Amino acid sequence: MKVRFLGTAAFEGIPSLFCGCALCAKAKQIGGKELRTRTSVMIDDDLKVDFPPDTLLHMHRDGIDLDQVKDLLFTHSHSDHLYAEDLVARFPGYAQAQERPIHVYGNDITLAKIRQVFEANGGVKDCYKLHRLRTYEKVELQTGTAVPLLAAHDQNETCHLYYIEKNDKAIFYGHDSGKFPEETWEWLKDKKLDLVVLECTVGKVDYWKSHMNVDAVLEAKARMEQYGMLNADARIVVTHFSHNGGLSHTDLCGIFEPHGIEVAYDGLTVEL
Ligand SMILES: [Zn+2]
Ligand SMILES: [Zn+2]
Ligand SMILES: [Zn+2]
Repeated sequence: MKVRFLGTAAFEGIPSLFCGCALCAKAKQIGGKELRTRTSVMIDDDLKVDFPPDTLLHMHRDGIDLDQVKDLLFTHSHSDHLYAEDLVARFPGYAQAQERPIHVYGNDITLAKIRQVFEANGGVKDCYKLHRLRTYEKVELQTGTAVPLLAAHDQNETCHLYYIEKNDKAIFYGHDSGKFPEETWEWLKDKKLDLVVLECTVGKVDYWKSHMNVDAVLEAKARMEQYGMLNADARIVVTHFSHNGGLSHTDLCGIFEPHGIEVAYDGLTVEL
């Protein structure tokens, strides 16, 4: 199985629109791994998590065939994870796409936002099938199985993390979230994971309630080790960075690599 990190930034991207901070200036100068677009991953070629506004760029940059996607999982409705307007590009008249639907899974708010945009463009079409998630209820996908787990992210929305099983591999997709709710740990603690994706939005800033900092990531890893959740070759990858964390890719590697944690960059592919 391969997991491709299409984007690795929080909402603002790095460098960010309008921003004059030192990290954004450095990212513009250095380019490469310092340039980060909004987050999404592609698992093999047929399961995608989130659909950010940079999806067209991801496709152009990486030569992805988005019409291979069979299942599209949404974590929540924030604009760095959901750009419903571009889903419309698969509607008849815009795309010459396969006739089968892409199955879309999300919470109430995510689906309501998608429906609103679809209604403004002539209504929901057969090229998508929308499925409402219930937290902790397992979903049989076209490509595997997924269980949405409760995140600590937004008081106004039931944001989800995912436990995904595909081709005999188990993935925990752990963002956006602050320190995970105890009920999520309770559900997860007996699982054996091959890949853990965590976020480190705020870097070393002393904050962990709706996003994680470095200490919260290290604490989550320690707890997974304590519970015996990590398979022998398990990989842990951090992503979803904000420029306001002030840490470059090089800085982040210096912090996380001694702990056996990999720092994602746009285009990183992890083979499991
Ligand atoms: Zn986000
Ligand atoms: Zn900045
Ligand atoms: Zn968010």
